[in-house]
Amino acid sequence: MLNPAVSKELVDIVGRDRFLDQLEELTCYSYDSFLEEAIPDAVLFPVSTDEVSHIVQIASRHGIPVTARGAGTSVCGAPVPVQHGIVLCFTHMNRILEVNTRDRYAIVQPGVINGDLQKALAPYGFFFPPDPGSMNMSTMGGNVAQNAGGPRCLKYGVTVDYVLGLEVVLASGKVVRLGSRNIKDVTGYRLSALFCGSEGTLGLITEIIVKVVPAPVTTKTLMVTFKDLDDTAESVADIIGSGILPAAMELMDKMTVNAIEDAVHLGLPREADGSLLIEVDGSEETCEREIRQIIEKVKQHGAVTIEEAATEEEKERIWAARRSSYGVFAKLAPDIVSEDVTVPVSKVPAMIRKIQEICAHYNLTAGILAHAGDGNMHPLIAGNRQDKDEWTRVWQAVHDMFAAAAEMGGTLSGEHGIGLAKSEFLPLVMDEDSREFMQVIKKAVDPGNMFNPGKFV
Ligand SMILES: Cc1cc2nc3c(=O)[nH]c(=O)nc-3n(C[C@H](O)[C@H](O)[C@H](O)COP(=O)(O)OP(=O)(O)OC[C@H]3O[C@@H](n4cnc5c(N)ncnc54)[C@H](O)[C@@H]3O)c2cc1C
Repeated sequence: MLNPAVSKELVDIVGRDRFLDQLEELTCYSYDSFLEEAIPDAVLFPVSTDEVSHIVQIASRHGIPVTARGAGTSVCGAPVPVQHGIVLCFTHMNRILEVNTRDRYAIVQPGVINGDLQKALAPYGFFFPPDPGSMNMSTMGGNVAQNAGGPRCLKYGVTVDYVLGLEVVLASGKVVRLGSRNIKDVTGYRLSALFCGSEGTLGLITEIIVKVVPAPVTTKTLMVTFKDLDDTAESVADIIGSGILPAAMELMDKMTVNAIEDAVHLGLPREADGSLLIEVDGSEETCEREIRQIIEKVKQHGAVTIEEAATEEEKERIWAARRSSYGVFAKLAPDIVSEDVTVPVSKVPAMIRKIQEICAHYNLTAGILAHAGDGNMHPLIAGNRQDKDEWTRVWQAVHDMFAAAAEMGGTLSGEHGIGLAKSEFLPLVMDEDSREFMQVIKKAVDPGNMFNPGKFV
């Protein structure tokens, strides 16, 4: 609980209606989409950089932890305030400040929802490529702090590739502007990139300049099913290896497809062991050529059904079903652990076999969902935290998956970040010197360990 004098200082900044300190209110900000919970002492909703700076100065003076929060959709415990203190929720800073398609940038406040930026850009014929499955809920501040990705990132890259500049409030309360609105800018260190994936541990992002790109003329979307999951994975590696770069290539195993079918009735064949949702974009001519090449390839790998979405509505229905997959999977068990192992694409077939082998070994129920074209896999393990034996097996399986990915030259996270979920596994992919280097940066930027303490650094 905050000292009443400190609470008063904070209320003086934001007013009573943007300050929460009642248990039933605080509880709503104690968790994200992972499994851990910790109740903050207060939640504040700033509306300006100036307010953020003043709050930080007070917190710094009194040694109070400050944890930033967007929409709370993180799946790794990143915004959970494990050392309590203040949660700064950015959802009220949700204005799109500028769209400039001539100079190809947009300036947004951190609480803007990714999907709202997409809607604002569409009339100009532009888009912002990072498209996390949570794009209709998650905020741009959260996307930057988690360096979010999504299906389209196979072709277009992740959030860091689109951040041109940031305004950040540092631990001293000072406001710095990093980068610029120029597409090319190599003036010194690329400091804005340091905050991409920093998970709120270095400073508070109060304004974001992102690069926006012209929307493709058209897209073509295929749904392909295979009898065998191995063939599904092999065709992914084969298509990418042959030089075709689809905009998205999403793999789903039988269990995931069936969970989706139960919920949204897309008409996918339930008996197929593997499915691929493939989208290409560009000119009519390029899309047509690439789609024919892809159909050729999947046929060589024994595709059972190949269906092309005939209308925009059909495409949207397929994508909506894919985006619903986490939600529908969550209905299968009291708890779901959604992992994020990532390997080089050529290793996707081997990694999928390994995931299945590990889950069978520990007698666990799991589905596989993957942004397969970039090697980013989400094994979804169903379990029950109350069953101690099962829960131990779940985390042994997670450890074994990470160890297998590391052995294949892969990594712990393609897009979900580290947060609380993966801190203990960092040594599998980062040596001691590299971890120490992260600590050196953290200590230099946030010497009092005020921002999001207790996390991966
Ligand atoms: C159904 C579902 C699907 C998802 N699909 C994807 C996907 O395809 N790809 C993907 O990458 N992720 C995905 N995610 C994970 C999550 O949506 C992303 O990590 C997203 O970027 C988090 O945004 P948020 O606004 O919810 O941030 P939060 O969860 O509130 O916070 C995330 C982190 O950002 C920090 N943060 C937030 N705002 C600021 C700020 N202004 N300044 C500094 N730090 C800040 C927080 O402290 C925290 O560490 C999915 C999650 C769900 C629930």
